[in-house]
Amino acid sequence: MFEAGGWVLLESAIADLPVDLRWLFESGALTIEQLAALHGALGVTTAADLRAAVRREAVRNVPGLDVAVESAIAAALPTLRASVPRVPLGRAMTIAYPFLSRLRELPGVEWAELAGSVRRGEDMVGDIEMVAAAPDAASVFDALLQLADIARCLHRGPRRLYLLTDRAQVGIRCPAPDRAGAALLYLTGTGAHFDGLSSLASNRGWTLEPEGLTREAGSPRLSESEEQIYSALDLPCIPPEIRNGDDEIAAAQQGTLPTLIARTDIRGDLHMHTDFSDGRDTVEAMVEACVSLGYEYLAITDHSPHSASSRNLSTDSVKRQAEDIARLRERYPQVAILHGCEVDILPDGRLDFSDRVLERLDIVLVSLHDGAGHSPERLLQRYLDAMRHPLVTLITHPTNRLLPHRAGYDIDYDRLFAAAVETRTVLEIDGAPAHLDLHGALARRAVAAGATVAVDSDCHRAEMLQLQMQLGITTARRGWVEPRHVLNTKPIHEIRGLIAAKRAR
Ligand SMILES: [Zn+2]
Ligand SMILES: [Zn+2]
Repeated sequence: MFEAGGWVLLESAIADLPVDLRWLFESGALTIEQLAALHGALGVTTAADLRAAVRREAVRNVPGLDVAVESAIAAALPTLRASVPRVPLGRAMTIAYPFLSRLRELPGVEWAELAGSVRRGEDMVGDIEMVAAAPDAASVFDALLQLADIARCLHRGPRRLYLLTDRAQVGIRCPAPDRAGAALLYLTGTGAHFDGLSSLASNRGWTLEPEGLTREAGSPRLSESEEQIYSALDLPCIPPEIRNGDDEIAAAQQGTLPTLIARTDIRGDLHMHTDFSDGRDTVEAMVEACVSLGYEYLAITDHSPHSASSRNLSTDSVKRQAEDIARLRERYPQVAILHGCEVDILPDGRLDFSDRVLERLDIVLVSLHDGAGHSPERLLQRYLDAMRHPLVTLITHPTNRLLPHRAGYDIDYDRLFAAAVETRTVLEIDGAPAHLDLHGALARRAVAAGATVAVDSDCHRAEMLQLQMQLGITTARRGWVEPRHVLNTKPIHEIRGLIAAKRAR
């Protein structure tokens, strides 16, 4: 039995462990003493390290450990990451990006890049990892530890550092530049993608390990850049967002990898809120921010009267907003300002504004913000009714999930996608941190079915326009979405044409 003081001490020792080791301990695969021995002898800190150590059968040789412990770790590994507490991608990016740019500015850092699930843009991120190529890791780490907002150093090894910053764990690997590319490839994962590349290599009698790609014995290892390794395997560099280990390597071999959507393809943002509903900023502040992002157009789309938001539009305030926008069009002639609305689809499938109000708007977005206790079939029916309405251009956040707490609707998405094609209704990939909706897997099915998508910020604060658009783009990239699939890569006259064509039907 632990006495109180000892227990507290042990608890805090566990809380200070890098997350993967903490969860390995929680899995019961080994005791805290064995964990300490493992960490001390091999320097492992992440699931990726553990996988590599098990792969080369190094665990069994650590004093105090044996084959049984190695097998227990191997057995715990597949589910280990699933039990790590995760933060939504938006929060992870808010922490990771400023940190990464400071890391890039440190003397001696040749390049630095995100790794792991945050680089792949997963909805929920286990821990924030980055790789910085630098000849002298110690001086980079010394400099990092002097930054004011680093709460605590959790672990420092010769070439790895685990920090607590902004209540999140950030892991930094600092390999020598000549081997940093292999480290980045390995740490970006997924494990299945790396295994896929490894078997390609072994088909040719080569070996791909976390340290790099070795061709003939005695030949130098390729490890300087990811491109170098992919190219030796006769592959183009596969974008991190689609390194799932399912069909991306086959697509790369066949030359059918998608040209993924990028920020430079985006011409405007078609979904944002102002202080006319639950947004924080004025219409003008949003317009100004969009101008500074270089957009050619934007749509102001506040909530309709029966939305559950803290504040909504009324028929009257739509008129006032129209006057505001008319004034701003004169003040900002360089950008096209669409007057729109995010209209709730009511429980009976009708829209939350009369046609008389809606037809005066430039663009109408519709959404379900509640399930109203409806069955999946009835929810789908509400969508289908709204999509057949000639004034409706776009369905926002179609699954209506709320990360991390609420799963999306369990509706028949194939029917939704078919109806979107048939009624020429656009489906959204919403970049709000709690939405990321459609998510990657569904977005991929939607565009494969022939649907057009729009990548929007659904922003409620001017300062978040850029990050939320980036989150939307990352999510779209995970869905193999190309510029040709995306409404807001098109010039404004084409968008107006598409809206007019549906209205004329
Ligand atoms: Zn909404
Ligand atoms: Zn919205």
